[in-house]
Amino acid sequence: MPDSFRRIEINLGARSYSVFLGYHILSHCIAGLADFSREKEVFIVSDTQVNGYYGQMLKDLLTVQGYQPTFYLIEPGEGAKTWANAGKILEAMLGKNLSRQVPLLALGGGVVGDLAGFAAALYHRGVPLIQIPTTLLAQVDSSVGGKVAVNHPCGKNMIGTFYQPKAVWSEITTLETLSLRDWRAGLGEVLKYALLWDRDFFRFLEENAQAILAKKKTVVLQLIERCLLIKAEIVRQDERDEGLRQILNLGHTFGHALEKATNFEKYRHGEAVALGIVMALRLAESLQMINKSEVEAVLSLMQKWGLPLSFSSEYVEGVLKFIHDDKKVENGQVQYILPTGIGKVEVKKGIPPERVFDVLSTDKKAGV
Ligand code: NAD
Repeated sequence: MPDSFRRIEINLGARSYSVFLGYHILSHCIAGLADFSREKEVFIVSDTQVNGYYGQMLKDLLTVQGYQPTFYLIEPGEGAKTWANAGKILEAMLGKNLSRQVPLLALGGGVVGDLAGFAAALYHRGVPLIQIPTTLLAQVDSSVGGKVAVNHPCGKNMIGTFYQPKAVWSEITTLETLSLRDWRAGLGEVLKYALLWDRDFFRFLEENAQAILAKKKTVVLQLIERCLLIKAEIVRQDERDEGLRQILNLGHTFGHALEKATNFEKYRHGEAVALGIVMALRLAESLQMINKSEVEAVLSLMQKWGLPLSFSSEYVEGVLKFIHDDKKVENGQVQYILPTGIGKVEVKKGIPPERVFDVLSTDKKAGV
């Protein structure tokens, strides 16, 4: 077993599972597949890009251990996370007459994980799901916690459920081929964890800002592990998103609205979250909930990482409208997760829309 190997437990009673994390760990993970299914068939969902890099490798590793893999590929990108594609995956599984014991392996980023996870939850009322995340965002966030969904023209993740995987195999070597843009997008979610939970982790990110950009192995391992431990603790306390887990939406109220206002085409999810974090910081600052110096420290780290800090004024109205359409709006009141310092957040309701509009409209002239 490689030195880098880590095993992080997601403690959810009968739905508990492990995240296996490290470099060159997939053979070992596959050896444990028999714990979840006696079937020799496995059904793999991936996107064409990820499949081009890692499909053959996964196929070989599975075949060597006696498995018979079938691949189903989607187009890369957020546009593939649709109800129609979920239906096509289910049709393909039905077409092969797969039993409910055949595991579904989701090889890819958050789009593949959310879509394939959704299909896994539906096929024969649920088949064993294994997440094999291949983006930083998916390794630190989307592969863990059981939220699976597809988008709808009405908004992001509008149709979905909770469905925990049986295991998560986080093979860090896959991140080597990730584009700089997607690496940075993942850093948006990484920053979220530090800001909402862990001041020391934020210091670690500051001290290692360049090493993180350069994907230095030891630092990347620590970074992913830290995020997973935070997410594991939050999900353990609130699996169904009824209380504490809502803080994980830091940056997402704005972020989801911005993604929708730009037709899910302009921004990666992590970029939209990064911009959402900027807006949450600015809103908190305008409500005197956080010191300017702390806001500046976060923005400075984001700048070092090349994360977007502003967006074009043409989207302000759309963002404002979609914030109010969000599925998390209760009784017409938008819920904002706002930082009160580095490592702390508060849930705030009842903020006047004019105040939000002012914050969204400031500093937008030079936006992109
Ligand atoms: P993604 O899955 O679209 O991947 C981004 C791009 O990277 C794609 O083009 C993909 O083909 C490519 N890619 C993936 N792995 C690669 C690799 N190893 N090498 C080279 N290219 C690779 O996007 P994402 O950022 O991973 O995920 C975003 C999605 O995750 C959004 O739909 C978001 O809503 C969802 N999400 C879900 C949760 C959850 O709890 N379920 C949490 C956060 C985000």
